[in-house]
Amino acid sequence: MAAEPLRSCVACRISRPKGELVRVHPGAGGRLSVDLGGGSGRGAYVCPRYVCLEQAVKRGEFARCLKTTVAPMTVETLEGLIRERVSRKVTALLGLARRARKVVSGAEAVDGAVKRHTARLILSAADASANSVAKSRSLAAQVGVAWMQAMGKEELGAALGGGPRACIAVMDTHFAGALISALDKIPVVVEAKEAARSDRRVKGDAEPRKGGGDPPWE
Ligand SMILES: [Zn+2]
Repeated sequence: MAAEPLRSCVACRISRPKGELVRVHPGAGGRLSVDLGGGSGRGAYVCPRYVCLEQAVKRGEFARCLKTTVAPMTVETLEGLIRERVSRKVTALLGLARRARKVVSGAEAVDGAVKRHTARLILSAADASANSVAKSRSLAAQVGVAWMQAMGKEELGAALGGGPRACIAVMDTHFAGALISALDKIPVVVEAKEAARSDRRVKGDAEPRKGGGDPPWE
């Protein structure tokens, strides 16, 4: 990915590789539609950060950049569209990973994958218990494996064809990379990514959503 083209965010104007940004483009009936960086054609790019989404919506940057009139959209709607896209992408990737036998779930299997040094990404569900999250996070940090927290237990379970899963491990570099890239587009995701060894929140400006306050491990 040496020469990935750069695009600048319509809100903060910072240039980033296209794949790190969300692309917003005109969809059916003048409504805005989003994709996760893979699309082509006319599009406006925005960082997957609340502050940028908000600024872009408030200042009408999408209409300006796309040089067209677009139906008004709230930040919440935009966030919902992005989350839906991410969810679909992650579900598809996990389905493929499952068929390729490159994903395991459950504390014991995840632990085993880490100990065998085959885990490339550990993903904790957003609604996993604080205890489960803390365990998987510290496990990942011990061996320097990417760790993220996103998606619901039910969603992860459905993607893997079964009941709810609190924690999964992905044992393939490409699947892990594609999942991280997709999950990175969730504006409020709490993650550790390659900084699994560090305790800082990569997206420090993410707003706590449910119930407010910091996540229990902070
Ligand atoms: Zn930005």
